[in-house]
Amino acid sequence: MAEVYSISMNKGGVGKTSLVTNLAGAITKQMKKKVLIIDTDGQGNSSIAFGFKQPNDFEYTIYDVLMGEKNAKDVIIEVSPHLHILPSNKDMNFLEFDILPNLHQYGEPFKLLTRHVVGIQDQYDYIFIDTPPSMGLVAGNVLAIADKVIIPFAPETFGVNGLINVIEGVSDFKKKENPSLEIAGVVGMMLDSRTSLHGELIKQARQYCFEHDINMCDTVIPKSIRFANATAYDGKPATWSDSNNPIVKAYYELLEEVLPHGKKG
Ligand code: ATP
Ligand code: MG
Repeated sequence: MAEVYSISMNKGGVGKTSLVTNLAGAITKQMKKKVLIIDTDGQGNSSIAFGFKQPNDFEYTIYDVLMGEKNAKDVIIEVSPHLHILPSNKDMNFLEFDILPNLHQYGEPFKLLTRHVVGIQDQYDYIFIDTPPSMGLVAGNVLAIADKVIIPFAPETFGVNGLINVIEGVSDFKKKENPSLEIAGVVGMMLDSRTSLHGELIKQARQYCFEHDINMCDTVIPKSIRFANATAYDGKPATWSDSNNPIVKAYYELLEEVLPHGKKG
């Protein structure tokens, strides 16, 4: 049975998709386990990271699955024998418009994704779900089926209060909707060691997590614009390429921290 990870944070550009694609890539490369990425963000960036340049060309996506018009297995794309993607595209930007006025047809609003994931969970070791930068119907559906949440904290983009809001939101959701949900870790993203503000914000985040018994990973992902530009053109996640790069090394270290109990069986 796959363990299901949601990468959640209601801010844009904080490294959600980078975490999803690089951790999934690292698992398939290092552990030879089978991984499914479910993209639920209308930007379709998870499939772009694997070289599918035009997500809008996908005939069917997670949107059709959530609308009950397709089975997940008929929409999933095989990137490699160990890595599959259930893609997304701009159709997902209208999911709430299409679902909310007709909710009576769809049953419990946060359970739209659950049965589809349950139906394919035994075919994978891990499922990583990329999410849009907002907390709404889609984010709730993802948290409802997730076993674990990874929360990226990019100090460049928002302060510790933004992190606290998300942690509190996840804890609240756990109480109300999914008692088995756990925070696997908060991860410092795109850190510039020369910027003293980054160091200070990471310290504050660690203090908060320590006081609230939340795992903040020791590993942080350093910032490198050059690296980000290079991987954007590669059509594969960094963890499938240059293993000497410090960012790639950091992702493999991070994997050890977020998957402590993640081995199959
Ligand atoms: P969105 O909410 O828009 O989906 P996101 O949270 O998924 O954004 P990413 O797309 O992973 O964030 O990253 C945002 C941008 O930062 C991308 O252009 C990406 O290439 C860049 N980036 C990712 N990792 C790094 C890094 N370590 N250093 C510098 N830039 C990075
Ligand atoms: Mg993204």
